[in-house]
Amino acid sequence: MFFLNPCKHWLRFLAASLSLLCLASFNAVSTQAQPVAYPLALRKLREAARSSEHIGIVSAGASKEGRDIPLVVLRDPQTPVGKTVRILVLCRQHGDEAASTEAALQWLARAAGGKEAELIGLLRRVSYFILPVINPDGMVRNRRDNAAGVDLNRDWGVFSQPETRAVRSVFRKWRPQIVVDMHEWTSRDPHYRNMVEAPGPETPVGKELGHIARRLQQEALARLESHGKPFDRIHYRPVSNPRLAHRYFAAQGRAIAFLFETQPQAIPSMPRRTALYRSLLLNLGRLLNHHATLKGDLDRLQRLTAWQAPPLPESAFPPRSEPRPPWQTAAIWSAILAYAMVLFAVSQRQSGRIEAHRRLLTRTKHNIRIGQRAILAGKRKPAKTPATQKPLEGREKPARKRSMAA
Ligand SMILES: [Zn+2]
Repeated sequence: MFFLNPCKHWLRFLAASLSLLCLASFNAVSTQAQPVAYPLALRKLREAARSSEHIGIVSAGASKEGRDIPLVVLRDPQTPVGKTVRILVLCRQHGDEAASTEAALQWLARAAGGKEAELIGLLRRVSYFILPVINPDGMVRNRRDNAAGVDLNRDWGVFSQPETRAVRSVFRKWRPQIVVDMHEWTSRDPHYRNMVEAPGPETPVGKELGHIARRLQQEALARLESHGKPFDRIHYRPVSNPRLAHRYFAAQGRAIAFLFETQPQAIPSMPRRTALYRSLLLNLGRLLNHHATLKGDLDRLQRLTAWQAPPLPESAFPPRSEPRPPWQTAAIWSAILAYAMVLFAVSQRQSGRIEAHRRLLTRTKHNIRIGQRAILAGKRKPAKTPATQKPLEGREKPARKRSMAA
């Protein structure tokens, strides 16, 4: 039967195998358009921390409804964090903007899997403090604001919400010199272009650190644009709303703070957009390591903001999980292959039965047609109706059964 319609059967076999592959790669990082759900995101972060000595994870606090706000530290274990340039990365202040969380998860999984060798090399000079989900309550509801209905990116300086207070405590504890607040435009927003906003020269922070911010913005975006995606370079002014995270941190914390936005309408593919977020973070690390002028600026800034970094708690670095031995991987794949073959064999057997029934039906219909033609031609007499099928009126009525009462 297989050779009657091999194409159909092979397609079935391929579909079964692909569904199995999807199940098998459940733990791999999502590169699909469907964003990762909150519990799975937490699991992936813990897995990354277990797999690499460069990655640690602690709790930054809890959301309005008590969900954990994780803080991931990406650093070189041999270099004190206080001697590095610290980059604080804010993701998902708005629960319906998934790209920043996806980018952080992918980047950390790649680093944990040994696929970011350059990044690991940069960590001798740069540390990343990443908050992959600042608004978990908004994330689980897929909406912009938090569980109290507050837009977190209008709460800086007010600090009415536990989420913004948790991030403020991270900032106070680790004193990052650079802050990147990562967002994406939604259909409600009036702007539709990729952009990075930095403090303008006329703002108080802009006078002191603006030249470093603008150089960093210029250089980082020039590298991103080499991928063919144009970015607007925006500068905020003293009259701009100061309740946005990057403006608050720039004004209060003497940090070089940026707002990063991408345009989903122009780049609908989530993997392509998340690659831009990862490139921006990597480019910042590269520039801080290799750009002579920026290095000089950052050294001066580091002297201005020098302090003794607190030690990271031991619990931030869970025991490393041993890599899976090759025989185990081979056994898993053999089981998957055997399962696919059983599925294929069952589907083949089922197809065979259906085909046999179809042939029998066709033969019976053909015989009936031949018989009818023979009867019409008078070559054959129609079969007599069996006595058991005679109509009732032509026969004697059966005797009525006497009831017990009679
Ligand atoms: Zn946003």
